[in-house]
Amino acid sequence: DGLIWLDGELVDWREAKVHVLTHTLHYGMGVFEGVRAYETDQGAAIFRLQEHTDRLFRSAHILGIPMPYTKDEINEAQRAAVRENNLDSAYIRPMVFYGSEGMGLRADNLKVHVMVAAWEWPAYMGEEAKTQGIRIRTSSYTRHHVNITMCKAKANGNYINSMLALREAIDSGCEEALLLDNEGYVAEGSGENIFVIRDGVIYTPELTSCLDGITRKTIMEFAANLGYTVQEKRITRDEVYIADEAFFTGTAAEVLPIQSLDGRLIGEGRRGPVTEQLQTLYFDQVTGKRDY
Ligand code: PLP
Repeated sequence: DGLIWLDGELVDWREAKVHVLTHTLHYGMGVFEGVRAYETDQGAAIFRLQEHTDRLFRSAHILGIPMPYTKDEINEAQRAAVRENNLDSAYIRPMVFYGSEGMGLRADNLKVHVMVAAWEWPAYMGEEAKTQGIRIRTSSYTRHHVNITMCKAKANGNYINSMLALREAIDSGCEEALLLDNEGYVAEGSGENIFVIRDGVIYTPELTSCLDGITRKTIMEFAANLGYTVQEKRITRDEVYIADEAFFTGTAAEVLPIQSLDGRLIGEGRRGPVTEQLQTLYFDQVTGKRDY
């Protein structure tokens, strides 16, 4: 049990309900965030809170959903969800959705609701995956860059392909999927950005077909500070096969090494040295052990 912030109030999670005629449940028009709070010496600290709130507002703006609260109020709602549930570390899920005040595709007269929930959530793929890496497969589902929703919006409706891709990957004995864009270039994982390393240079796809990930940006900054060359470019599937190292980034996945793609080992088939260096910096940073 616990408390969920719903439309400005903290309510018991059992009371935080929506009606079956909730508009977003029918048509999928809504936006959300995934945020993490880490245990630090100063208590739970929300990593990149302002960036996540900014992206939530950008996502709503892209979809034309008017936000009924200020950024400060949404920041405070996230802090309250962690604090009032006495969480040392947490995954935080803000979501903006249309209510049950009306049906049909004209949404301009609907009420916009906001909720923020927080709960404890350990390593996404388990502790072992952080060092051993995961197996991924290229998906038969694509990540659209031009669609009902654009890729810079973290929108509910964008996740159908991600879910189908993930299920396909799991059904074929892998842990995650790699989605390509409409033209066949590497886009991202079902909920992660991808990086590949070759000859000491770090590459990641441009922001044309992947989410503008906050972990992606953080890792690009770390890598640049360490003196690596980081290039945003179109990446082909075989460039991943022949990479020295590859890893995923995401708030949920954190920094996750990739062992193989489509059964082809990447490098040594385990976490490589550059991945390890960036992963260590990431965990030191989020837990407040060091500040970069
Ligand atoms: N790509 C997709 C499709 C996602 O859903 C996410 C998760 O938010 C990411 C990438 C990683 O973004 P971030 O690092 O901001 O969590």
